[in-house]
Formats: sequence, structure tokens, C-alpha cells
Amino acid sequence: MAKIIDPYGAELPEDYAKVIKDFGLEEFKVDDFPEPNRLMRRGIVFAGRDLKIISKCIKEKKPFYVLSGIMPTNDKIHFGNKQVVENIRYFQDHGAKAYILVADLEAAAARGVSLEEGKRRALEFHIPAYLALGLDPKKTVFYFQSENKEVVHLAYGFAKKITLNEFRAIYGNADPGRIMSAVTQVGDILYPQLEERRPGIIPVGIDQDPHIRLTRDIVDRTKDKKFFRPSGLYHKYTPSLDGSLKMSKSKPESCIVLPEDVKSAQKKLKRALTGGRETVEIQKKMGGEPEKCMVFEMHKQHLIEDDKELQDIYKKCKSGTLLCGECKDIACSKMERFMQDFEKGIEKARKQVDKLNFVKFA
Ligand code: SF4
Repeated sequence: MAKIIDPYGAELPEDYAKVIKDFGLEEFKVDDFPEPNRLMRRGIVFAGRDLKIISKCIKEKKPFYVLSGIMPTNDKIHFGNKQVVENIRYFQDHGAKAYILVADLEAAAARGVSLEEGKRRALEFHIPAYLALGLDPKKTVFYFQSENKEVVHLAYGFAKKITLNEFRAIYGNADPGRIMSAVTQVGDILYPQLEERRPGIIPVGIDQDPHIRLTRDIVDRTKDKKFFRPSGLYHKYTPSLDGSLKMSKSKPESCIVLPEDVKSAQKKLKRALTGGRETVEIQKKMGGEPEKCMVFEMHKQHLIEDDKELQDIYKKCKSGTLLCGECKDIACSKMERFMQDFEKGIEKARKQVDKLNFVKFA
């Protein structure tokens, strides 16, 4: 299957083709995965590591796992988290057992969030938010890093397998906090294999690749333990509404968080960078440039599920029959529906939290 629309590709400020080459990644091949999700079909999932083994597990119905972490540093998440949850759900629907860890130890070490506060935030907000975004609770195991001694034991064992220089080469620096956090993440990534040695996939933004590389290196050095090297799945960033590479809370006027007050999110969408022309007349004559438009990017990545509907907007924009005001109104009404559904979903999910499958530790 060809990618439906990938208007960004090489035109993004960061050239993702170069990222694939520089990081030694594989290009994501949508044909290798049955019933690809929206992010896969549209080229937003763009790369990975060892993807074939996961595609084989799916096709041959062999066991594998998918894992992700929640960092309970505050009571908001972002569109990158939404992309991760959507990819976890894809793998759950295709045979994976999911593991969600709450990185409360890391939140305490890096941001001074007490373990009690981290736990409260995870139970009252993050886990319900993940469920509201589509995580399948019946196929998910949850745990808190601080309670999981097996992860800590793995991390201590792995710490002996890497030198400071190697660590610097992967992370750029080697301060003690970073080392502790990284080896703990290696423990988390491999923890599901204590139950059963099997392949696993970690869906992340590309900035998280160092953890996957470190884990894979450590697996290579502990061959006697017979762990599978984890596979990685990488998605492009949701760009900032001002057109820069990544939506970030450091630019609040161009960043929509989850949840956000609907009016505030709509105001930001209305001010977003578009691919509109200088005047309405020129746009009607020449058409717009959805390839450069952040409103279109929101439609493509998050707001429009139906491929035909997205292509219709693309074509109408290109032909000048859809103007930016109307297009932003469409985005605003879809955002309103999304935020309302998300908040309702969180409320509903809060009632399910005590029935979830948390790993119990002695
Ligand atoms: Fe962007 Fe829509 Fe304007 Fe086209 S019509 S440039 S997609 S806001």
C-alpha cells in the first residue's frame, strides 16, 4: 500500500530521511503490517529497528509484547503521547501483550516528584488518559518502577555491561542521574522477557532511540541470558503550530496540551501557520499549500480519521475551493469533539482503574 499523503517528507525542517540514515534505522514499510493504523498509513510512523520480527509475529500469531512508560511529572500529556497510545493499541489489536510502566522513580530523580505524588497523578490522570486514548485495559499489564524489584535487579546487572565512553557516545554525556535512568529503562524494556523470552516493540518519538540502542547493545553483551533485542517504532513529531519541528510546552501559544480548554485550543488553531496565500483572490486562483500548513498537519495527524475526508480537504485546498477560514473552522469543531470525548473518556476510565491488571510484588 502506498502512503496516502505525506506532504512533509523532505520538506520538514528536520529531514527524516537523513535521520534514518544517520541513526542507522530501517524505513517503516507499511505493506509489512496488516491493517495499518492512521499514523502508519500516512507516513507519520516512518522508521524502526528490527521491524520484520514483529511483522512476522503478527502474521504467524506468535507471542510478542509492546511496552511504554508514563512519566508522571504533571497532570497534562501531549500529542506525542497520543501517537504512542495509538501505536500500542495497534499492536494490542494484532496480538501483543502490552506493558505500561509508571516511571515514578525517574520522575522523583529528575523532577523531584515524590513517589506518592507520582502514584496519585498516574492513577488519577495518566492511566485514565491512556485508556481514554484507546489503550485496551484487558490486554495491558501495569506496574510502578519503584515497586518492581526485578527491574532494579536487571538494571544493576546491566550497569556493569557498559563503559562511560560508550554511554557518552550514545547519550552525549554521562552524568550519574542519566546513567541511573538509562539503565533502569533498559531493565523496564527487557522486564516482560523475564516472564517469557519473546520479541518486543517499543513505540516512541525518535528522541527516545538512545534507550533502544543501549538496550540492544546490552542484549548483545549478555547473550547467555537469551533476551531478544527489542524492536523500535518511531513516529514523526507533531509540529508546533508556528511551524517549528516539535510541539513543545516551552512555546505555550503554539502548543495544545491534553486536556486543554476547548476555547484556548481553538484560539491557537486559528492563529496557526497555514499554507494560505497572501490574499483570498490569489488563493482561489493558485490554491493553498497544505504541505506547509500546520492546520492540515493537525487534520492529518490527529483530527481526521477517514482517509477520503483528508484527501478531500487536500484536493480542495490545492484547487482553491477551500479557504483557510473554513478549513480552520472544520479543525476547531473537530478539536472540540476530540477534547470533549477525551475528557468524558478520562472520567469513565477513572472508574475502571482499581480493576486494572497491576503487577503485585511481594
Ligand atoms: Fe491549510 Fe486548510 Fe488553508 Fe489549505 S485551506 S492552507 S489546508 S488551512
